[in-house]
Amino acid sequence: MPDPAAAAQWALVVHGGAGAIERGQLKPDQERAYREAMARATEAGAAVLRRDGRALDAVEVVIRLLEDDPLFNAGRGAVFTADGKNELDAAIMEGREMKAGAVAGVTRTRHPISLARTVMERSAHVFLIGEGADAFARSQRLEQVDPSWFFTERRWRSLEKALQAERLPIPPRPAGAPRGPDAAAALAHDEGKHGTVGVVARDSRGDVAAGTSTGGTTAKRWGRVGDSPIIGAGAYASNRSCAVSATGTGEYFIRLTVAREVCALVEYKGLSLQAAVDQVVQQQLPAIGGDGGVIAVAPDGRMAWSFNTTGMYRARISDAEPLVVGIFKDDP
Ligand code: ASP
Repeated sequence: MPDPAAAAQWALVVHGGAGAIERGQLKPDQERAYREAMARATEAGAAVLRRDGRALDAVEVVIRLLEDDPLFNAGRGAVFTADGKNELDAAIMEGREMKAGAVAGVTRTRHPISLARTVMERSAHVFLIGEGADAFARSQRLEQVDPSWFFTERRWRSLEKALQAERLPIPPRPAGAPRGPDAAAALAHDEGKHGTVGVVARDSRGDVAAGTSTGGTTAKRWGRVGDSPIIGAGAYASNRSCAVSATGTGEYFIRLTVAREVCALVEYKGLSLQAAVDQVVQQQLPAIGGDGGVIAVAPDGRMAWSFNTTGMYRARISDAEPLVVGIFKDDP
């Protein structure tokens, strides 16, 4: 039942990663490319919600688009491990029944977010990793790709730089990786180690959902997994409080269970959504050395975001507010 007292009947917030993104560092065509990509993906999610679609569907639709977009560190365009592989992580959660699904270290499934959703809906489990997760994807007929599908020249160069700085050997280029500059390389901006994508939504039934998808951090080793696929850290959704998706230095987000912490402040302390995201991102995270940001939506349709980096690719839209796209701190 739509809530007549709601701030919005449907609402959607999207992030494309937080990091060192300053005005003057982005060339006009780069800035335009990111703004257009964020706007396009957000509008696609809004179209789902506008026709009374589910928050969960909106989350998946938007993240699939961003996973295919080489500008972002998720799916195609993901960062490389020190071994020269793309190992992808994703999580999705819905707030009505609090069902959740997650995957980590996926290398062949084109859309990790859809695999996370399939884990949630068609398995008895919440979290699958590595080879097994890809095998489950195959068993469910989710689209499989050659690992070189995820390759971008720009991310390969970032890997080479990171490995040189750490005096680690540079692995051979992945088999089948295209040679030469790719279109994204010219438009992409090196925002440091970040660039994850995430979406939160509230639909006209009053249900909230959250999803997050990432390649993790450049030159990660030893099967490292960040916060993004960890329910309660990189994503969380409950109709009792809110839905949150995070991006930033995963190790800190895991230790603070950032997404759940925001929702707990709303649920138990009665904080407004904005006060809750600010408390976690501006106070708790920096206190232990973490940087990044979150987006959030409440069951009443209120939206919020907060980041302690110089920028975060972000967008929001609802039935009560037209599309807003931001990158820098002083954007609206
Ligand atoms: N949180 C992600 C991770 O630690 C990275 C990011 O959001 O940029 O894997």
